[in-house]
Amino acid sequence: MRWSRALIPTHKEDPSHAETVSHKLMLRAGLIRRLTSGVYNYLPLGWRVVRKVEAIVREEMDRIGCQELLMPVISPSELWQETGRWNVYGKELWRVHDRNGREFALGPTHEEVITDIVRNEVRSYRQLPFTLYQIQTKFRDEIRPRFGVVRAREFIMKDAYSFHENDDSLSVTYDAMYDAYCRIFDRCELDYRPVEAATGAIGGSASHEFMVLCDTGESEVIVCECGYAATDERAEGLIATVMPPEEPLSAEPVDTPGMKTIEDVSLFLGMEPWRLIKTIVYVADGEPVVALIRGDRDVNEEKLAGLLGASMIEAAPPAVVEKVTGAPVGFAGPIGLSGVKLMVDNSVEPLVNAVVGGNAVDVHIRNVTPGRDFSVDGYCDIARIGKGDLCCKCGKTLDSFRGIEVSQVFKLGTKYSDSMKATFLNENGKAMPFVMGCYGLGVSRTVAAIIEQHSDEYGIMWPMSVAPFEVEILAVKFKNEKVREASEQLYDELRAAGMDVLLDDRHDSPGVKFKDADLIGVPVRVTIGERGLKEGTLEIKMRRTGEQRDVAIEEATAEIVKIVEEARA
Ligand code: ATP
Ligand code: MG
Repeated sequence: MRWSRALIPTHKEDPSHAETVSHKLMLRAGLIRRLTSGVYNYLPLGWRVVRKVEAIVREEMDRIGCQELLMPVISPSELWQETGRWNVYGKELWRVHDRNGREFALGPTHEEVITDIVRNEVRSYRQLPFTLYQIQTKFRDEIRPRFGVVRAREFIMKDAYSFHENDDSLSVTYDAMYDAYCRIFDRCELDYRPVEAATGAIGGSASHEFMVLCDTGESEVIVCECGYAATDERAEGLIATVMPPEEPLSAEPVDTPGMKTIEDVSLFLGMEPWRLIKTIVYVADGEPVVALIRGDRDVNEEKLAGLLGASMIEAAPPAVVEKVTGAPVGFAGPIGLSGVKLMVDNSVEPLVNAVVGGNAVDVHIRNVTPGRDFSVDGYCDIARIGKGDLCCKCGKTLDSFRGIEVSQVFKLGTKYSDSMKATFLNENGKAMPFVMGCYGLGVSRTVAAIIEQHSDEYGIMWPMSVAPFEVEILAVKFKNEKVREASEQLYDELRAAGMDVLLDDRHDSPGVKFKDADLIGVPVRVTIGERGLKEGTLEIKMRRTGEQRDVAIEEATAEIVKIVEEARA
């Protein structure tokens, strides 16, 4: 490509509204332009990178025997009703209707559609297992679109779905997919960690997320020296006990006028928050549930929902709190509750002489000992676990890092095939639900993640495998005939050798051209100027290492081809 004919609109200044490195650089280097909130145009340079990431993804999917197909963006609401996700997905599901008022979803993911295809087309266990995938535009009406293409409302995803006779077969494909993802992210030269993940709105029994290490990432990953790694939504662990041994005293009510929060009550009574027990009423799939946790800690709603087997959980509205506890919000406690399930976090077990709500206006109860003053069926882990807590596997202190989730894989089991009545005939002629896996990978988010890890103060430093161009020829003064001739010749030779080459043939000042070259980050920069030509040389500079050297013109093509071919993944 000739830069003079290309649409590569670069900017010197950081855009004021962009917060992260990748968002800033994608705008400045002319990769993307915002059309509206969370919706982006991919300009030619950006699209070239997307296509390269897609090509890597395709190669690795095909390598493990997956087949590519394409499903529509639009799917009828009836399919989503079958699985219940028309309601469960909430506002993130982007809904549209046609001229007759029929409702449709713009696909945020395609479990319903793929299951519909397979239930209609596949009959026998002999046809199993197989995996289908697509690379396609997805829609999610995110509550807070941000960081450019990292959290967009329209984005590009590779989604794959596997179908099996049984769990063992699913495990084989799940592991193969996991390995394929490792190869994909290795080839994109990302520093990433696969970690245990919660299953969320997609559902299923096991899941991993692939996290790219990045300080501005939205996800928090909890890790231990022993190798344990899980997202904060999923992490299990132990909360260190802070209590010195104490004699249990008799429980007694205490007036707490207008004191409704842990902070209010702990200040008022002059007690540290960990001496209080937080009592939270939730509604899980329509049923009220009460969760108890130490006052200085938070409930992890994902984990709570998982233990309850609930697909939807939310804090109970005030009317439900009053019905369950007999008191307005702020005075809920476990003593005397009946007819409601109590979920008690492990952190509550060691407490003695704790404070709980009195289930009456302006009343709390102190000197409460769990198990003595209210019965506990069993303790469970529903706490949000973080850095400083103790590993569930080995007991050592946990650490954490921030990351960008670039993909997630799930063992779905029969969640979708059960609700959509998708069955095959097994060896004995019996109808069985398909066992399924699903495997998403954010293509556009991966592009941003690569930039987060491959940039410096001057711009992007693309890995060769995904660079929009592999070589940039920077002609210092394109007007000069000798420079022009040498540049054109090298341009032709490199292209003939199968290289992706950008020729900066603009009539701008060298300063502008060098700055732009650093900004768009092509891995190999070849500078051709009058001075070098006099000595029969040109300069090769590697964007990432800064390493540079002069090479004789006659040897340049072979030398550059060698560099590029060695670096291609
Ligand atoms: P997140 O927790 O970040 O919202 P998710 O768990 O909802 O992600 P999945 O449903 O597993 O995501 O989707 C698969 C992949 O699609 C994600 O790993 C991510 O790379 C990508 N993805 C999801 N939501 C977005 C988005 N709003 N913008 C860009 N990419 C996204
Ligand atoms: Mg999401």
